[in-house]
Amino acid sequence: MKKVSIVISAYNEEGNIEKLYQELDKELKKIEKVGFEILFVNDGSKDTTFFKIQNLVDKDNRVKMVNLKRNFGHEIAMTAGMDYAKGDAVIFMDADLQHPPLYIPEMVKAWQEGYEIVLTKRVDNVATSRFYKFCAKTFYFILNLLSETKIGESMPDFRLIDRKYVDFLKGFNEQDRLFRGLLSWIMPNDKVKIIDFVAPERFSGTTKYNFFKSLKLAIDSITQFSVRPLHLATYFGFLGAACSVLLGLYVIFEHFIEHNPTPGYATIVCVVGFVGAVQLITLGIIGEYIGKIHIEVKKRPLYLADLIEQKDKNDDK
Ligand code: UDP
Ligand code: MG
Repeated sequence: MKKVSIVISAYNEEGNIEKLYQELDKELKKIEKVGFEILFVNDGSKDTTFFKIQNLVDKDNRVKMVNLKRNFGHEIAMTAGMDYAKGDAVIFMDADLQHPPLYIPEMVKAWQEGYEIVLTKRVDNVATSRFYKFCAKTFYFILNLLSETKIGESMPDFRLIDRKYVDFLKGFNEQDRLFRGLLSWIMPNDKVKIIDFVAPERFSGTTKYNFFKSLKLAIDSITQFSVRPLHLATYFGFLGAACSVLLGLYVIFEHFIEHNPTPGYATIVCVVGFVGAVQLITLGIIGEYIGKIHIEVKKRPLYLADLIEQKDKNDDK
C-alpha cells in the first residue's frame, strides 16, 4: 500500500497539537488505499509541545516525532521532517490549523490521479490585515524583480510533493534555505495542481514571525536566489560617478559662465555624503554575500535531531 507522510513543524504550539491531530484523524479516515505517517517536528519548543506530541506517539503508531535539539527555524524544521519522512509523497503543513486538514483528501486524490506536486493558494486569508497583505505584495514584487527564480505570492508552505521531487529537494544542502524558492527551482511544467483554500485564524497562540524575523527572511530570500543586488552595487557606483560629474560641470558653469562661484564647503559636504552613502550600501550588499559564503563553506549539519516513535510497532526498519 502506498504511504503518505504528513510533516508538521511546530514551535511552541502546545494549544494546537491535540486539536490538529483530531482534525487530521477525522480527515485521514476518509481516504482509502493510502497509509499515513504523521511526522511532527518539534522545533526546540519551550512550552509543553514535546509532551503533547509524545502523548500522541504513545497512543497512535502512525504518529512520530522528529525532536530538534533547539530551535532551528521553520525552514530547517521542514527539512528535518522531509529527511525523516518515508512516504511515497510528503504533505507539509503548519501546526496552528491555518492549513486546514480539510483539504488533505483533495490533495491526496490529486496525487492518486497522477499529479506530482499539489500546491495550495490562499484565496482569502481572514487572519491577515490589509497592511500585512500590502507588505507581502510589495515584498514579492521586489523579490521577483531581483531574483532569477520566480517565487509565487500567496503560496503557503501547505503542499504535497511526490517522492521523486522530495528526493530532488533533498539534494539541496544549503544552510540558508527557502522551501518556496527551492521548489520553484525544481518545478516541472506539468503534473502540478493548485488547490484554492481559505486560511482561518490561528487556533491558539501567536505568530512566530516578528518584524525582524520577516525582514531577515526577506533579505535571505533575495540573496539566496540572486546575485542581482551585487550588480545593483555596481550600478550605484556608476550613478554616484555620473552625479559627481554633473555636479562638477554645474560648478564650472556657475564659476566661469555665470560668474557666481558656488561656496566650496556645500558641494564638498554633498559629494562626501553621497559617495559615503553609496559606499556603505555597496559594502553592505557585498557583506551580505560574504556572510553567506562564510556560513556555507563550513558545511555544518543543518540540525540535530532524534526520532521518537513506538519501537515495538515500527514495521519498516
Ligand atoms: N515554526 C517552526 N519554527 C520556528 C517558527 C515557526 O517550526 O522557528 C512553525 C510554527 O510552529 C508553525 C509554522 O512554523 O507551525 C508557521 O509559523 P507561524 O504560524 O508563526 O507563521 P505565520 O503563519 O504567522 O506566517
Ligand atoms: Mg501560522
